Amino acid sequence: MLQQFNAWLLSVLLIGSLSLSLPTRSPAQVIKSGPPSCPGIALTFDLCPVRKGPGYDQALVDYLIQHQIPSTFFMSGKWMAKHEEEVDHLLGVDFFEIGTHGEVHAHLPMLNADEQRTEILGPVKVLHKHYAHEATLFRPPYGEYNDVTVDVVKALGLRFIQWNIESGDPDPSLSTEQILTRIAKRAKPGSIIVFHANGNGKQTRQVIERLTIEVLPHQGLKPMTVRELLNCSPPTP
Ligand SMILES: [Zn+2]
Repeated sequence: MLQQFNAWLLSVLLIGSLSLSLPTRSPAQVIKSGPPSCPGIALTFDLCPVRKGPGYDQALVDYLIQHQIPSTFFMSGKWMAKHEEEVDHLLGVDFFEIGTHGEVHAHLPMLNADEQRTEILGPVKVLHKHYAHEATLFRPPYGEYNDVTVDVVKALGLRFIQWNIESGDPDPSLSTEQILTRIAKRAKPGSIIVFHANGNGKQTRQVIERLTIEVLPHQGLKPMTVRELLNCSPPTP
């Protein structure tokens, strides 16, 4: 009886210590900002599929190129399939960085692990196969994810990029001024801001113009791609 009890106790202790030594899911795997010591900020633009309209904010992209503003784009597979020329164009700009945003813009937490893997890998494979581009940054559609998503993204060797400032640019009730105020209040060194470049943000180009001319220089913040932001070290005195 005592032996049985000891065996039971031992197994309880073993299981206990095992579960303690298992790696815990650290929220640090989901990147919402860069180092706070960095005087930079990342302007990121999602390219989610759209039902109507051109699905591409040409005026915004032209502005970013004309003013050489480092920017990061997250492309969904469905969007890429309709915008091959634009994909080529964006990939050709050396101060742009390209990541992915799921195949059909699915709600990932509603899918099992295999389905999530398929959704996440879709545009990564297309970029690799048709554009010879290795996309390692991933942003989940709607910013939605669960523990399975974090594990799948990690197992695929991708970096999980969220944001800590939501511009709210697809909301037609927000004026340029309101979006700017919202961003200016929250912007700090290392911030990652989410916008849209698929035409859903009616004020986006204007917001970017005023942000990069007035707000960010005033706050001492320089636009950087996500990769630059994550590798950024404090300025040398
Ligand atoms: Zn999206």
